[in-house]
Amino acid sequence: MIDVIELVGTVFSGLSALVIEDVEDAGEVICVRARTRDEAVACPGCGTETGRVHEYRERTVADVPTDGRRVLVKVRVRRMRCPVTGCPRQTFREQVPGVLDRYQRRTTRLTARVSAVARELAGRASARLLPALGICASRHTMLRVLLKVPLPALAVPRVLGIDLSGVAFCPSVTSASVA
Ligand SMILES: [Zn+2]
Repeated sequence: MIDVIELVGTVFSGLSALVIEDVEDAGEVICVRARTRDEAVACPGCGTETGRVHEYRERTVADVPTDGRRVLVKVRVRRMRCPVTGCPRQTFREQVPGVLDRYQRRTTRLTARVSAVARELAGRASARLLPALGICASRHTMLRVLLKVPLPALAVPRVLGIDLSGVAFCPSVTSASVA
C-alpha cells in the first residue's frame, strides 16, 4: 500500500520544488499548504548566497485541477536579507522557477495550460470551456492571457515569385503592362 507522503508526492509532482506540508479537502477546492526549501539562495543584486531570512510571506496561487477540482496552493515564501554591506538589494523575495512566476496568481504549469486553451479558442469560448476542466477564468482574464502569448516568429522568404500563368488570357493585360 502506498503511503500518504508518497501519494501526495505523486499527485502533486509538479510542485516538487516545494515542501508540501498539508493537503486539505475543502469541498470544491483542494488546498495545499507548502513552503520553499530551507536552502541558501543567491542575491539577485550581487550573487552572494544567503540563508538569512528577513521575513516570511504567504502567496496563494491556483494550480492545475486534481480530480476535477480546483487546487489552491498556499506557499510560505521567504524574503531574504543580503549579507553584503552596500549591496543595492538589501532584501529580496526568493523565486521558485518553474513553479511560481513573479506577480502571478497561477502556477507556471497552470498558466501554460490556460495559455494553450486561449491560443486555440480565444476569450469567450475559453471562459466557457475552462470551468468544465476545473479552471476558473473570466473572459477578460482569458483575453489578458491571450495578449501575453508570444507571436510565432515570422518566416521571411528569401525569394519572392509572381505567378503570371493565366495573365496572358486576360484581354486588359498586355505583356507590356506586366513587364
Ligand atoms: Zn546582494
